[in-house]
Amino acid sequence: MTRPSRICVVGSANVDLTFRTPRLPKAGETLAGHSLHVGMGGKGANQAVAAARLGAEVALVACVGNDSFGADAIGHYQKEGIDTSFVRQDTSRPTGTAAIVVDDDAENCIVIVSGANAELTPADVRRASAVIQQADAVLCQLETPLDATLETFRLARAAGKLTILTPAPVVELPDELLRLCDLCVPNRTEIEFLVGGALNRHEDAHAAAKSLISRGVKSVALTMGGSGAFIADATGTTHIPICKVDAVDTTGAGDAFTAALAVSLAEGLTLQDASRRASLVAALTVTRIGTQSSFPDRGEVDQRMT
Ligand code: ADP
Repeated sequence: MTRPSRICVVGSANVDLTFRTPRLPKAGETLAGHSLHVGMGGKGANQAVAAARLGAEVALVACVGNDSFGADAIGHYQKEGIDTSFVRQDTSRPTGTAAIVVDDDAENCIVIVSGANAELTPADVRRASAVIQQADAVLCQLETPLDATLETFRLARAAGKLTILTPAPVVELPDELLRLCDLCVPNRTEIEFLVGGALNRHEDAHAAAKSLISRGVKSVALTMGGSGAFIADATGTTHIPICKVDAVDTTGAGDAFTAALAVSLAEGLTLQDASRRASLVAALTVTRIGTQSSFPDRGEVDQRMT
């Protein structure tokens, strides 16, 4: 492909407030923290940033609040080169926010308010139909309302675009959504929920992926953390090993993996080759602390692929 791949992400955008503390606070206690880090998050926005770093032209369709966090988020995504024309600032709810407390033993507790993410509607999606129809691949997750996700995949499928779903946070999925899904990218917990059984051996991964395919999904990329990934379609299942690295922080690994798969498939790679590149992108991500700040750029990935 001579032009950059085009990716449209329809999903969540949050602000993550990370408080570092000596220990977790007790009920009713006011505790002095060591530091505060304000970062951008949300699975939709994470995937959009990871894809943009890999050289794709990315449009994000999302809903943030009409507040300073919302304005900051939009400015941040524009700096990443992402088209934010369809990020709406909703006046009824605040920008989705996560308050994350991490203590000196790396124990954490997290409170998330989805806020404006819950206001993303099928009408927002229809307004963005041009960027969906121009995309090579369209990505959704489940941090925004299901009716908006369904509308996205209906429009994308009607336009013949590749549809990719990260089923997180996992819920029961309507059959229509599964049938509209070209590639589903669950992690271990998510596929166990979706197919209703524990994955104890490699053969279980194969059976679980087959079960999702029998419900209408065309292909599956099942991520298994440090055990790598399994890719499956109607012809069979292949294990994609991890790239061995010194992992320091695995947050965002799944989003980096999914974005890299999308960009690579949009560039015409096979699912196997795309998964190998995704495995490298995710491995580079886990070598650094943070979520979006840990996603590699295209130059770093291409250098390691050769
Ligand atoms: P999620 O973040 O969605 O739970 P996973 O933990 O399954 O996703 O990780 C996604 C991918 O990231 C894995 O399939 C693997 O390719 C890569 N990965 C995860 N942990 C490591 C690790 N310790 N070393 C190298 N790669 C890793």
